[in-house]
Amino acid sequence: MPTSLVCNSLDILFPVITRIVNISLSTSYFPSDWKKAILKPLLKKVGADSAEYTNLRLVSNLQFISKVNERAVFDQLYVHMTISLMKQVMKQQTDLEGSKRIFDFLSQMALPVAVFISDRHRSIVKWIRECRKDTSHYYDIWHVAKSITKKLLKASKEKGCEVIRYWIPGIKKHLYWCATSTKAGFEALILAKWMSFLRHVANKHSDHPNALYKECNHGQLARRKWIKIGTNLTRYEFFSYYIYSGLYDKKS
Ligand SMILES: [Zn+2]
Repeated sequence: MPTSLVCNSLDILFPVITRIVNISLSTSYFPSDWKKAILKPLLKKVGADSAEYTNLRLVSNLQFISKVNERAVFDQLYVHMTISLMKQVMKQQTDLEGSKRIFDFLSQMALPVAVFISDRHRSIVKWIRECRKDTSHYYDIWHVAKSITKKLLKASKEKGCEVIRYWIPGIKKHLYWCATSTKAGFEALILAKWMSFLRHVANKHSDHPNALYKECNHGQLARRKWIKIGTNLTRYEFFSYYIYSGLYDKKS
């Protein structure tokens, strides 16, 4: 397809080409036709004898879509490999410096950063909030789970709070479920689901106070080491505090 025709029809062709390339990448399928080229012998020097093979240079023309696909793979691999390499090289630098360099690199590649996921470094949170207003920043759920586990393990070492340790695997599972079962943009629902765990550990699975999530989603449960509200106040308070502070990093 002539380049001028492609450029003039780009608004129509662009979504179609994007879809073809995305399907090729997501299915790991590269059509064999895309590997076939049209070979054209061109004379190396004007006026040379065209019957003599050594005077000819072969020019191969691949299909346009084949080259676009190759370029897309190269660009994505280049960005991925460079960022991975940068992360390794920048281990001695602060996380904020590293993040800034990654943003600069992507900016040079003309790639806007719509979403940035990091661990819970206050400096990164502040910098993105103030200097990268077009970027949505989320915490990596693995880091949130790690932080909550650490806090609950510490709490479980307090006298009378040993039962908290029993609930740690369940609460990690619940954290992942809250995040993955809720569509983006419904943060209030995530919070409602998350806080329901405070009633769940007390064997209360319905009539939750938050109207967004009134009832637990699970079915019949086997016996658990339930924490009774009131009678085991210290344990419950610890649990309540760490569940809440685990989700909201007050330092950030
Ligand atoms: Zn429940």
